[in-house]
Parts: sequence; C-alpha cells; structure tokens
Amino acid sequence: TNFDQMGLKDDLLRGIYNYGFEKPSAIQQRAVMPIINGRDVIAQAQSGTGKTSMIALTVCQVVDTASREVQALILSPTRELASQTEKVIRTIGDFMNIQAHACIGGKSVGEDIRKLENGVHVVSGTPGRVCDMIKRRTLRTRAIKILILDESDEMLSRGFKDQIYDVYRHLPPELQVVLISATLPHEILEMTSKFMTDPIRILV
Ligand code: AMP
Repeated sequence: TNFDQMGLKDDLLRGIYNYGFEKPSAIQQRAVMPIINGRDVIAQAQSGTGKTSMIALTVCQVVDTASREVQALILSPTRELASQTEKVIRTIGDFMNIQAHACIGGKSVGEDIRKLENGVHVVSGTPGRVCDMIKRRTLRTRAIKILILDESDEMLSRGFKDQIYDVYRHLPPELQVVLISATLPHEILEMTSKFMTDPIRILV
C-alpha cells in the first residue's frame, strides 16, 4: 500500500509528502488502516521504525478540525519524546490546521492552561503532567476518542503505571486504544486486557 491508497484526507496527504515521505514504513503499512478503521491495536515496535510518524498521521486523520476539543491523547515516557511527537503532528498536520500541544513537566503550567483554553485537537504529554491537567479540569477529556500509549514498557519502568491508570479512568468509555511497546511483559498485557477490546497485534 502507498500513502495515497489509504483513504487519507487530501490535506494530510499533502503534509506527508511535503515532509519528504514517499512510501509507508512497515509499521505504517500494517497499523495505519486498522487504527483509522477504529480498531484497538497493540504494536510491538521499537523507535526508528517510523512509529512516531505512524502516530502523527493516524491522529491527524482521526481528528475533526471543525471541533476545538481535545480528541486525541498520546502518552510518552519522556518530555523529549512527547515534544518530538507533538512537533511531527504539527508538521504533518500543517495543511489541515491541526492544533497540537505538548503537556510536559518542566514547562509552566500557565502556558498549558492558556494553550488548552484556546482549544487544541491533540495533546501529547507525559503521564504526570497530563494527569495533573486533567485533575485541574484544564484538560477536558469528554471528546477524547483515541488514546495512544507510546513506549509503554518504558513508561512502566519509569514508574508511571498509577498515573496511566488514573488518566484512563478519566477518559470516555467508548475509547479507542493504541498501545506501542518494544516488549510485552506481564504488566503490559494486564493493561491491554483492562483498556482494550479485541485488539489486533502487530509485530514489526
Ligand atoms: P520514528 O521511529 O517515527 O522515530 O522514525 C524514525 C525516522 O524515520 C525518522 O527520522 C522519520 O522521519 C523517518 N521516517 C518515518 N517514516 C518514514 C517514511 N514513511 N518514509 C521515510 N522516512 C520515514
């Protein structure tokens, strides 16, 4: 499959080609369509496989830019990865006017509040800060339709398990969940059975 056979929005396709991509990577080939079709997906993949761009382009496709509510939430283990993902979303989504915000520790809470109140479509953040913003009711969760857990094994080894569960409890019940992890230890499988419905498993 090529990018233009995936049924992507024209302005998104423009963003992808403008970014310099010609052909989807293996994970993009296998994960994009199921995610766009609403399936829960477990992707066993490392960094360097194109997983960040996979996240970015699926999120851009799923979001309705006519609404100003947060519709997609991505959790990452580090501030760097959360910011990187947010940047790729803004770049690929440039022609669609996607508004994305990185909710990460170490930045001022005031800026989070200002950005979120202005209205963003996508939040990419670390579990601690995202949890905090949800509890302050600065990050409204009612329109969130997709949760992406990136580098899930790394999030657990950094001690974010409770915060991830806490975030999950605040999200709408009919939520689509995508879980990405290099390894699938017991604790991850426990999360997949709590959070996900009939997931497709992809090994890249
Ligand atoms: P990632 O695993 O998403 O961090 O991607 C690793 C590197 O591959 C990054 O430099 C991406 O810009 C690049 N990349 C991802 N997807 C593609 C693609 N379909 N075509 C060319 N380069 C890509």
